[in-house]
Amino acid sequence: MKLNSLGFPRIGCERELKFALEKYWREEITQPQLLAIAEELRRTHWQWQAEAGVELLPVGDFAYYDQVLTLSATFGVIPERHQAGDIDLDTLFRVARGRAPSGTPAAAAEMTKFFNTNYHYIVPELNEQQQFSLSWPQLLDEAAEALALGYQVKPVILGPVSYLHLAKTVGTKFDKLQLLPDLLAAYQQLLERFKALGIEWVQLDEPVLALELDDAWQLAIRQSYQVLSQVNLKLLLASYYGSVAHHHALISQLSVAGIHLDLVADSHQLALFADTLAPGQVLSAGVINGRNVWAAELDLLAETLSPYAELLGERLWLAPSCSLLHTPVDLDSEQQLTPSLKALLAFAKQKLRELNELQQLLIAPLAAASQLVCQRCQRVRAERQQARDVVVAQRLAQLSEADYQRQHAFAVRQQAQQRKYQLPLLPTTTIGSFPQTQAVRHLRSRWRKGEVSADDYQTQLELVTKDTIERQLKLGIDVLVHGEAERTDMVEYFGEQLSGVGFTQFGWVQSYGSRCVKPPLIYADVSRPQPMTLEWASYAQSLTEKPVKGMLTGPVTILHWSFCREDISRETVAQQLALAIRDEVADLQRVGIGIIQIDEPAFREGLPLKRSEWQHYLDWAVAAFRLSASVADDDTQIHTHMCYSEFNDTIEAIAAMDADVITIETSRSHMALLDVFEAFDYPNEIGPGVYDIHSPNIPTEAEMVALMEKAAERIPLRQLWVNPDCGLKTRQWHEVEPALKNMVNAARELRRRL
Ligand code: GLN
Ligand code: ZN
Repeated sequence: MKLNSLGFPRIGCERELKFALEKYWREEITQPQLLAIAEELRRTHWQWQAEAGVELLPVGDFAYYDQVLTLSATFGVIPERHQAGDIDLDTLFRVARGRAPSGTPAAAAEMTKFFNTNYHYIVPELNEQQQFSLSWPQLLDEAAEALALGYQVKPVILGPVSYLHLAKTVGTKFDKLQLLPDLLAAYQQLLERFKALGIEWVQLDEPVLALELDDAWQLAIRQSYQVLSQVNLKLLLASYYGSVAHHHALISQLSVAGIHLDLVADSHQLALFADTLAPGQVLSAGVINGRNVWAAELDLLAETLSPYAELLGERLWLAPSCSLLHTPVDLDSEQQLTPSLKALLAFAKQKLRELNELQQLLIAPLAAASQLVCQRCQRVRAERQQARDVVVAQRLAQLSEADYQRQHAFAVRQQAQQRKYQLPLLPTTTIGSFPQTQAVRHLRSRWRKGEVSADDYQTQLELVTKDTIERQLKLGIDVLVHGEAERTDMVEYFGEQLSGVGFTQFGWVQSYGSRCVKPPLIYADVSRPQPMTLEWASYAQSLTEKPVKGMLTGPVTILHWSFCREDISRETVAQQLALAIRDEVADLQRVGIGIIQIDEPAFREGLPLKRSEWQHYLDWAVAAFRLSASVADDDTQIHTHMCYSEFNDTIEAIAAMDADVITIETSRSHMALLDVFEAFDYPNEIGPGVYDIHSPNIPTEAEMVALMEKAAERIPLRQLWVNPDCGLKTRQWHEVEPALKNMVNAARELRRRL
């Protein structure tokens, strides 16, 4: 029974790669220095995996920016605007970031989420005449590097069908699949080169198999593995992030040497695929969750696996469900977690140890060491029981239909809100945050280190908030915000105040390039011990007669941007979070905050990979939002905000959320995004963004007037608001002030013309 690793986090226990990359980009270290740090990280990570008992060490999981980009470079797929002689490391950085220490800057390639994860890859750009030829030796060099260290090596690369699926076409429109034969020839060459190094196994990842594929894409899978299995190498076909049971017939007919399955996503796949395994074919059982931070229930896993271990013997491999890329590196670094929370956790290094222990449990269940593992698992289960909070459970059990409903329909609420606030036509507002200046960030870091007292911190932030309100008053904005100066992050701020949510010191996970996030841990039933935003909201409101919006993060977004426990459903966790936010809405309303925004930027991210599962998700996600908002009286105006530009397939759900006002990102799409709202006859109010906050450019009054005119062609004027695309946190005041001045003037100009 081999232990199979699909990849280890590359960023480093102390984010060494992040810091090295950023120094290199700032030209504070040289390229050889960067390469040396990277080599050291690879060596350490291989060593840890080898120590855990992994025999075939993964190569290809390391990347200087992104493994999809490395593969693009390997095949010579570099956008024309970045081509200048041979590919070097700076070419990769120019593609990813638009610039690098050497070479001419040009627009960076698009970056987007890798399947349903929070990892972002660089989208390959393919043209109709695309050529593929081995052009960048990194994968081969790293394989040679591991071999030279005396390891056996298993390159891990994205398979051809997933690669094509993730790519976008540029230039004349054409069907990507036309390129498959040429791409396969390049894969064959690469495989031959691995073989020439003496490599026996290569893993090809086809996460695309977790999707519902039409005939053409299924055929592409069949063709690809027919062609690639001609190379005299053992291919391990890996799928993950979802069940591939729906493709069982397709996959089981491929003549590959092994199949890896994500059994965390769907454990039934084990019996299904074990049944049809070809003689000699290996089954890699992905049983340790590669996307979460919780300790596995090894005793139960061993029970499930043991008949298969008997049946398959050497042909059963034990593995994480997917690459460990999505988990933090080392739990041992954590010094501040309570022992009871720490006992529930396993990061990448610990997950390797779990694999090893699982192997022991299967080989020698009666050995003393195995008994200890079982005892530990029982203790963890007992600890998990402590996560239950009877009060929360009772509240959930008592929920009724009425808790998900506002008092009256939107038309009635709209009148009540209009009577109360008397807002002008095309009211102006912003999305919540204002520039987080160097001074604010410095203040916060000194407060965290204990160098600034809580009182001083509070007073300083009050000054910042006061300044933010004054600037908005001067600009003439109709509905103000307090500016969120007290928040580093919209999820962390709430997570820190909720019971049942914990934080790590070093639980960093790569999001893209050198960027990492540290998601909160939802480890127990969630509740809100006390108000979370009341003080800031009331303080800001005390400074002005104009309405100041209360600003909350919605339950669905808090859930998606956290590591969520797995002993209860995500739906239930969303409900618990919704109740906490609901209590906050009730408190805000009670102290006179009558306009409240519940941000849901991650709402769409939660959509399952398979379309057939969308409705179920949308139903519970919409319900969670409604539960958080429905405590609002008719004359309390609930806003929500979503910053992406895709509503075509979810408009019904968006309407079902029944927010009084929704603000969305539209400035780049020239309001085309509103077509679907128009076609649907979306009844509530909409603020289509007119200011692209991702750009340092200052939009002119005329540009914003033109955008709003386009919006008014689609949506009745009475329903429209005027606002930026998203929060202004990352911008500078000298950009924001003139832009908002133009925005307010644009609204005034439009009102004048009526
Ligand atoms: N209220 C948040 C802000 O303005 C919203 C952020 C977001 O949509 N991602 O920063
Ligand atoms: Zn946003």
